[in-house]
Amino acid sequence: MEFKIGKSKFVIIQGDITKQATDAIVNAANKYLSPGGGVSGAIHKASGCGLADECKRLKGCKTGEAKITEGYNLPAKHVIHTVGPVYGGKADDKIDLKNSYRNCLLTAAENKLKSISFPSISTGIFGYPVKEAAEIAVKTIADFLKENSQIELVQMILFGNSDFEIYKKTALKYLKKSDKICMNNRAISSDG
Ligand code: ADP
Repeated sequence: MEFKIGKSKFVIIQGDITKQATDAIVNAANKYLSPGGGVSGAIHKASGCGLADECKRLKGCKTGEAKITEGYNLPAKHVIHTVGPVYGGKADDKIDLKNSYRNCLLTAAENKLKSISFPSISTGIFGYPVKEAAEIAVKTIADFLKENSQIELVQMILFGNSDFEIYKKTALKYLKKSDKICMNNRAISSDG
């Protein structure tokens, strides 16, 4: 499913983020930037050990912040690592999750990248409810693209089918009034 936001494209896809050839892919990392499991484990496995060596030199990352590395053996040129909130950890979970998405986008823009792929940050091991997280992800990405046209493509990559359906529904709910929708290669208007 595709949306046009400002001059940029926002795409929601079911797939494996390690296979995405965007300028950057985002890693839902832990605060030590160690490989761990989940999407982080998959990214480190596909990148080779150069990524873990570079991550060690970064000396960790705080919740809501983002740090960039090379992509090594990945099809993506860079990995942007962010630490999402552990759900229920504190009252600021929503702000932290928003900051994670926003700081990844800002880091990509600062490094003159034109395309970026996100996984569903915090909704695995960190336990954030997917519906609430999807709403924050969609709104934060859309707000950023409305004010910044440097990033031409943002992809949301959902691993599982139920997450994919939730993100699509959320995007239709929040984006349909102002943005053109493209489904199955057929452009349909926001009214259609
Ligand atoms: P967190 O610790 O931030 O919750 P996880 O890695 O546990 O991060 O999960 C985040 C999301 O990433 C989950 O929805 C999980 O299904 C998904 N995920 C796991 N592997 C991949 C992958 N290869 N590509 C895309 N998403 C993935």
